[in-house]
Amino acid sequence: MSPGFFKEDDLIAVLTTQPFASTLDYRAPEGGCHLGAFVEVPLGPRKVLGVVWGPGVGDFDPAKIRAVIRVLDAAPMRDELRSFLERAGDYTLTPLSAMLRLCTRAPGLGDPPSMRKVYRLGLSEPGRMTDARTRVLDVLRDMGGLSLTLGELAETAGVTPSVVKGLVKLGAVTEEESPRDTAFPRLDPDLGGKELTGDQAAGAEALMAGVRSGDYGTTLLRGVTGSGKTEVYLEAVAECLRRGRQALVLLPEIALSAEFLTRVEARFGARPAEWHSGVTVTERRRVWKMVGEGRAQLVVGARSALFLPFQQLGLVVVDEEHDTSYKQEEGVLYNARDMAVLRAAICGARVVLASATPSLESWANAEAGKYDRIELTSRFGVAVMPKMRTIDMRAEDLPRDRWVSPSLARSVTQRLEKGEQSLLFLNRRGYAPVTICRACGHQIGCDHCDARMVEHRFLKRLVCHQCGESKPVPDICPSCEAEDKLAAVGPGVERLGEEVTGLFPEARVAVLSSDMYGSARALKAEIENIAQGAADIIIGTQLVAKGHNFPLLTLVGVIDADLGLQGSDLRAAERTFQLMRQVAGRAGRAEKPGEAVMQTYQPEHPVIRSILGGDEGGFWRAEAAERRAAGVPPYGRMAGIILSSTDVQEVFDLGNAMARQDGALRKIGAQVFGPAPAPIARVRGRHRVRLLVKAPKGVALQAALAEWAGQFRLRGQLRLAIDIDPQSFY
Ligand code: ADP
Ligand code: ZN
Repeated sequence: MSPGFFKEDDLIAVLTTQPFASTLDYRAPEGGCHLGAFVEVPLGPRKVLGVVWGPGVGDFDPAKIRAVIRVLDAAPMRDELRSFLERAGDYTLTPLSAMLRLCTRAPGLGDPPSMRKVYRLGLSEPGRMTDARTRVLDVLRDMGGLSLTLGELAETAGVTPSVVKGLVKLGAVTEEESPRDTAFPRLDPDLGGKELTGDQAAGAEALMAGVRSGDYGTTLLRGVTGSGKTEVYLEAVAECLRRGRQALVLLPEIALSAEFLTRVEARFGARPAEWHSGVTVTERRRVWKMVGEGRAQLVVGARSALFLPFQQLGLVVVDEEHDTSYKQEEGVLYNARDMAVLRAAICGARVVLASATPSLESWANAEAGKYDRIELTSRFGVAVMPKMRTIDMRAEDLPRDRWVSPSLARSVTQRLEKGEQSLLFLNRRGYAPVTICRACGHQIGCDHCDARMVEHRFLKRLVCHQCGESKPVPDICPSCEAEDKLAAVGPGVERLGEEVTGLFPEARVAVLSSDMYGSARALKAEIENIAQGAADIIIGTQLVAKGHNFPLLTLVGVIDADLGLQGSDLRAAERTFQLMRQVAGRAGRAEKPGEAVMQTYQPEHPVIRSILGGDEGGFWRAEAAERRAAGVPPYGRMAGIILSSTDVQEVFDLGNAMARQDGALRKIGAQVFGPAPAPIARVRGRHRVRLLVKAPKGVALQAALAEWAGQFRLRGQLRLAIDIDPQSFY
């Protein structure tokens, strides 16, 4: 027997998805089980999911040890994934059981393969034909023997399901059971490659050589939007597939990237597996199983796809690697970009971090030689980076409650005359960020959070962007009861839409904001329509900054370039720089040259100046120097501690105690700051207090944090969360 196999009755340790500090001992079931096998085990009166983690620990009364109920019909978890979970758990200070839950998020894993009914052409002809019946049979004849589900068939033929069922009774159509979890179609790496330019070809060759090496390595692939980064990394994917290994492409906002999937299909002849929140439960299960069996060669997914049980992962691409959505901000606090590097290092895979505006972390790693670097300097074909300029808002004559300056309006008018598109960018959802009573000055806030409610006229409600709570817009002020005195203050995209419709009554205006469409699919469809020319003026939040292609777009107007520069976030400058460059990158992607204008009240601000100047190297060097001087990431380590409770006294007491008893941290040269009320001091009725730990690079921060936090007992309502490498500070 191999060392990775346990005979019936052997003592084994099983890691369950239940919140225990360690594994639990069981006996191997009849027929034995492999190390890493997914199993169902009894726990009290329940049956729970677990993974065989190793030989039994033997710390439990042997008489009470129970047997594994059954081994699930799934490929055992590989050593590589088990050590990844352990190391990622150590890094983020997350219990192993919670890590396991991240990679078993496919409901029904334990169920036998599920079946579904499919329909095919039968042998007999119905005696009486109707139009509807003819259409069904025509569709099936067209399929040449292939089968369809009831929904697909009825929809394609334009009939009700009962027509199909009627034909089944007559024997004209057959109904069969077929397993749902089918393999993904094979991708052909040699199908649709484009002829690459010199730069691109050199970059692709370097990435392919990396894949061929079979060893770990990370490459930062930098290039302006439209320079062909996607084309280049798809060549690395192709090479990975040729070598029989699996590839994963992580995208931010994956639910929206119809364009990307279409490109993959054109390149490889079939669609890849998709993994994100918009995927149905059955499809998730299929992806999970097929990935584990090596029958899905390429997965395109959101950050959690990193926890899929790949059989032989060879390449992970993190597209738009600087994007903040890679940081999971709830539950297990991890950064998928960093975890991709960790997993690849464990399983000997390559990582490609692609971005037009890399994070300072990745930039610094490339400077230090830890990452390779590939630069694509020009846009593909005739497309050039848009010209950029600022509009000095201090010199513009703009009435109150208006946000489009006369200068910007003129630029839009020119585009309308030429039949080109304009995009007005404002990173604020809803109608207005604040609703204030003009009689008493009261601002309507959320009942559960210390956040102001944002008016969404489209939904006819006030919405808390913190906890999602919403309520109808009241007629009278909840504070002074004055009637008709509530007024919207400040702009959101909906309000900007109103203004723009007033300014350009002839134009077709589209407002793109994630909350205005019922589903990701509807939004996806709308974006595609607009890209084809269904709107003259697009108004959007940062949603539009993310990789969509608008070939007719030649003007980008940034309504409030100063918005991101406020606030105490250590990455404020970096974020603004990235966002503005990304937004500007939307313009002039096809043959028409583009222009990007930024409305600002502080045109001399160094960040605004470096965006305009296009001197990225200069910006990064200045930003790096400041962070180095301050000893903050990536030149120092940080951890955020968030304490919360329904009882405000309780949180502060704990916070103060933690600040006092900081010996474990001082030992490694780390400092504690706080406690301070978190910027949003109450969320969902819980009071929040933050502490910040700063440590020099290279010390054992996690161990010190664990020792430090371990001194305190969390009683009652108290919760403590540790956020390693925090990205947001709210
Ligand atoms: P990026 O990922 O850097 O934004 P893309 O890979 O999306 O750039 O390229 C921008 C556009 O140019 C896409 O439509 C792409 O298909 C096209 N393109 C890039 N390189 C080539 C090439 N060598 N041949 C043909 N089309 C290309
Ligand atoms: Zn709220």
